[in-house]
Amino acid sequence: MAVSDLDGGTAQMELPQGSRHDLRHDLTPDAPETESYSDEKGAFGYVHSYETGSRLDGPGVRLTLFVSGCPLRCQYCHNPDTWQLKHGLRISAEQAIKRLGHFAPALRAMGGGLTISGGEVLVQIAFTQRILRAAKSLELHTAIETSGFLGARATDEYLQHLDLVILDIKSGNPETYRHVTERDLAPTLQFAERLSSMNKPVWVRFTLVPGLTDDPANVEAVAKFVAPMKNVEWVEVLPFHQLGAFKWKALGHEYRLDNTPPAPPDLVARVIGQFRAAGCRAR
Ligand code: SF4
Repeated sequence: MAVSDLDGGTAQMELPQGSRHDLRHDLTPDAPETESYSDEKGAFGYVHSYETGSRLDGPGVRLTLFVSGCPLRCQYCHNPDTWQLKHGLRISAEQAIKRLGHFAPALRAMGGGLTISGGEVLVQIAFTQRILRAAKSLELHTAIETSGFLGARATDEYLQHLDLVILDIKSGNPETYRHVTERDLAPTLQFAERLSSMNKPVWVRFTLVPGLTDDPANVEAVAKFVAPMKNVEWVEVLPFHQLGAFKWKALGHEYRLDNTPPAPPDLVARVIGQFRAAGCRAR
């Protein structure tokens, strides 16, 4: 964590290079509430940070842009400092695109591209659409990582700018999903079905949290839902870790997973095995 992030020292109008693990706090205190935010033009947006050289967020080497705003409240969230727009930095789409253009030749050469993650990308739909459109005009591979909860907001035109959707299906059991995220599962499943009907490439992500999402029936429900979808290229099982715990404490949120251990290798193997047994390509 950079101390300057806490005291506002990075609160200049520059796209903040950093890491998903940096804590951002009150960089734009007068930003609107996420819940009431209407991003109609997208000339400006709220950004947590960006990373270069990521191999985690899609094929090849990628620039990953983390945007602010999320309507979910996942108990295991590693980035609660992305929930509110005010913790991000307000920058222009033009500036983000200019920075992307700087990296574009290297990203193309390394078979990578742009991934926009968050937070929830679809909170800032017009802002992210501008950046994705520009990325396509730079001939970059494009991806978003999303919970799908706001999938109904994504127009067909929006989806045309995407080569890949990384879709977090956080649980298969609706009650577990609500317990984990405080939101409903149905919009995510509807978005997954829409992407399937369009044959849009998807990587499904499932975060494995001991005692929270690891129930075999909960995993099985995701596996059975995803297995028939030919557009799903991978199911990725992400083992829970505690790297985000300090953010909850710094922001004054009650963190309920203090005593939850990281997902052990034998549990990860069991869950990957469940996905494979259902017919998914899982890793
Ligand atoms: S959807 Fe992502 S950013 Fe939002 S609360 Fe869940 S883990 Fe955190």
